[in-house]
Amino acid sequence: MKSFCVSEILLTTLVTLGHSSLQTLRCHFRSFLTLATYWFGKMEHSNFVHLHVHSQYSLLDGAIRFEEACDLAKKYRMTALALTDHGNMFGAIEFYQMAIKHGIKPIVGCEVYVAPGSRFEKKPVEGMEGAYHLTLLVKNRTGYFNLIKLASLGHLEGFYYKPRVDKELLSQFNEGLIALSGCLKGEIAVHASKGEMKKALQSAEAYRKIFDDRRFYIEVQNNGVENQLLVNERLLEIGQQLSLPVVATNDCHYLHRKDAKAHEVLLCIQTGKTLQDSDRMKFSSDEFYFKSPQEMADLFQNIPEAITETVEIASGMF
Ligand SMILES: [Zn+2]
Ligand SMILES: [Zn+2]
Repeated sequence: MKSFCVSEILLTTLVTLGHSSLQTLRCHFRSFLTLATYWFGKMEHSNFVHLHVHSQYSLLDGAIRFEEACDLAKKYRMTALALTDHGNMFGAIEFYQMAIKHGIKPIVGCEVYVAPGSRFEKKPVEGMEGAYHLTLLVKNRTGYFNLIKLASLGHLEGFYYKPRVDKELLSQFNEGLIALSGCLKGEIAVHASKGEMKKALQSAEAYRKIFDDRRFYIEVQNNGVENQLLVNERLLEIGQQLSLPVVATNDCHYLHRKDAKAHEVLLCIQTGKTLQDSDRMKFSSDEFYFKSPQEMADLFQNIPEAITETVEIASGMF
């Protein structure tokens, strides 16, 4: 456990007060009390924060509302929380304001889709995914504007079923951003799951080069998906070979385990299927929920540094 940094408290308090209005004064008072409690060290904060979270703005694929997520993050004594919707930043401002109101540090991000080649090539590439996933998080003001550019150009130039960026755009607009390697649909994980370790290593090297100065992280998840533990082992191997830091996330798509069924219905609406269809797209477990720091620590007992790294990352954000 770490004590909450005094300068962060001051900064967050100032930002909070800066947004003051009569309607929100009560909420500010509440967040001020939270900060004051941290200040006096009566409450220890958790050693894990969620850095990969999909809200309702991950259209028809996310069932998390900001107020409920911030309440839960606060209950778990998380000092920060990230938002990483699929391919867009539609919820960024609403999320930012809600987190500030709760005395939580907001980390704006986006899980972007990366085209396997050029974003202008709009046809299937043999043996490749249509788009790989990559988790991007904003570190500072420059990063925020770069992420806006990436999300916009993904729609305007790279749209092929999904808004896609490519490595050329990432090379151009990566300043102020950090990248996590993504879920099982991340480029490195996809190669690793096929046992194509040379390709996985080459991809990791490419991302490490783009996100230099240790801004690229191997992302590991443990949410009950088949093959995942094997892929994690391979990802850790690559991390070791390239001296990349490792970070744990849970790819939260809904708040509680019991919401998994409702999320399944959401996916059916997205894909035009019904629950009776056997060939529909569905998540293979009910573990994509907002797990507690203890649950996360239990899942990553073998790599505790992947848990504490989340707090390190959060403390390095503006
Ligand atoms: Zn993903
Ligand atoms: Zn995700």
